[in-house]
Amino acid sequence: MSGRGLTGGSRDPDTLRAENAAAPDIPRLWSRVGELFIPYRRHLILTAILVLASSALTVVPPLIVQRIFDHALFPTDAAGAVLAPRMGLLTELVFLMIAIFLGAAGLGIWQTWLTSSVGNRVTGDLRVRLFERLQRMELAFFTRTKTGVIQSRLQNDVGGVAGVLTTFVSSIVGNTATVIASLIAMIVLDWRLTLLAVVLMPGLVVAQRRVGLVRQRIAARTQESLSEMTSITQETLSVSGILLSKVYNRQRLESQRYSDENRTQIRLQVQQAMSGQWFFGLVTVIMSSVPAVIYLAAGWLLTEGDGADAAITAGTVVAFTTIQARLLFPLMALMRVALEVQTSRALFARIFEYLDLQPAIADAPDARTIADAPGPLGQIEFRDVSFRYPDSPPDMPATLDGISFVAKPGQTHAFVGPSGAGKTTVVYLAARLHEVSGGAVLFAGEDVRKLSQESVVEHIGVVTQETYLFHATIAENLRYAKPDATMEELERACRAANIHDAIVGFADGYDTVVGERGYRLSGGEKQRIAIARVLLKDPPVLLLDEATSALDTVSERVVQQALDAAAKGRTTLVVAHRLSTIADADVIHVVEGGRIVESGTHDELLKAGGAFARLAAGQLT
Ligand code: ADP
Repeated sequence: MSGRGLTGGSRDPDTLRAENAAAPDIPRLWSRVGELFIPYRRHLILTAILVLASSALTVVPPLIVQRIFDHALFPTDAAGAVLAPRMGLLTELVFLMIAIFLGAAGLGIWQTWLTSSVGNRVTGDLRVRLFERLQRMELAFFTRTKTGVIQSRLQNDVGGVAGVLTTFVSSIVGNTATVIASLIAMIVLDWRLTLLAVVLMPGLVVAQRRVGLVRQRIAARTQESLSEMTSITQETLSVSGILLSKVYNRQRLESQRYSDENRTQIRLQVQQAMSGQWFFGLVTVIMSSVPAVIYLAAGWLLTEGDGADAAITAGTVVAFTTIQARLLFPLMALMRVALEVQTSRALFARIFEYLDLQPAIADAPDARTIADAPGPLGQIEFRDVSFRYPDSPPDMPATLDGISFVAKPGQTHAFVGPSGAGKTTVVYLAARLHEVSGGAVLFAGEDVRKLSQESVVEHIGVVTQETYLFHATIAENLRYAKPDATMEELERACRAANIHDAIVGFADGYDTVVGERGYRLSGGEKQRIAIARVLLKDPPVLLLDEATSALDTVSERVVQQALDAAAKGRTTLVVAHRLSTIADADVIHVVEGGRIVESGTHDELLKAGGAFARLAAGQLT
């Protein structure tokens, strides 16, 4: 039996606290985020080169400005007297500047295309990996996790990190490069003014970290609340949900529930938007005031300093303040990215947690296919099987205990007994939708745990009480079982399932759209389509959960005929609700409290006068 993996067996993903998700192993987390980019490393290197080139380009124009001022517009002679402008040099410098702007713009566009395509592909990969991982999870995972919560991880959490993934690389590389290039240019121009301009920076970095922590906490709570809202929407606005809320007059209450959560969401969103605004405001004020302080300092240097030290030209002051003003943008951007990255930590943790989920049922490394199994195809054996649901309390008796039987190829074994006795669980174990807790289920003489899941599923057909049809045409729903089935095959299966005549009676025949928003089929029609679907698949083993009790007598008879046709020539395990339908079963097992209390044919059991006879007497009255 495979372990429950990193997340631990008893931990319910549904109730997992965001606080836990917010405190993961941080370096490991970021190295995993980095790994996501590995397939795109060539793009990334190119991006980095482009970004570095365009950042370097941004500091050149202010340096040209300095030359324009000091050498072209206001050239001075050796004595310091201002001469007439040098038009030739001026024109050259101006054209050079425009060319640089054009070049930088072109590089910027190329780089945006690169980063957005890499970022979106990484996001897309993450979404697909999550989807695939979730699909591999065992049935029990879905019974204990709200659908909305799962959807929320796929949509809200992955959506939440998409921004970081797309801006991450270019923003960090680009802005860091711009900041460094600007600082170097500033030092080259005048180191004293540079010192003055950066004196407040360390304070800002400390403040930024504090803001980041607050935002991270808010982000985790926002995602939780989003997930809750998705759950409410999912539960209430589905066909069954809306039906329930309408007939119980719960709409006002549901709206209330939604609007309460919505209010939390609004509060959190506003909090998130506002947290750090004072900080950004402060940064803007400081950075915008620096030029004014620089003028003051330049004035002071010119008047107070002695000869050589005071050699500060108008061009230098203009160039310096231009570069310094340009510093504001990349610095702010870097701080925002740092904040976003900090904020996204919780989301990445939630996403990786789902990616790390280990399916409780997985193929053994040396899993075999049924073709290699020693026994006859279609034989199912339960050998002293016990089972308890993973999340059932330890003091509860096991759901199944000591279940043993052998269904030979072609036989029909029926399971009867009171509701909750464990009949459905037996059938689900045969399909390995759950893993046994003790004993073994053997398929064609081989323990199902040693067989590949794919090959087991390939040999099994399942018809459950609740028939699920996709929002698609009847033909498409049928072809789910056999994508390349011809129209003749579809019709043959539908005739055998007693549903062909009904289908051709619909306006669009086999092209009638059914499912959630499609044509509403009756319960009996849906079941017969499900039976036709199984017939198309044509598996040697059939697992049936009869829903005939929910049907009227006419539909029941029609469905029963279809089921009988389907069972012919196949090993069939059937959960029976009406004893009349299983008179011909090869073996009937009476299940009570998770144990088989009696087994035999219909007649044998009636004669024995035990549990079955009592059940039969009960149904006759
Ligand atoms: P039957 O088909 O005979 O009506 P089931 O096999 O559906 O009975 O259920 C057997 C027992 O297992 C019941 O007590 C039921 O409450 C419990 N059970 C069914 N599904 C789950 C589940 N996903 N988690 C925990 N307990 C479950």
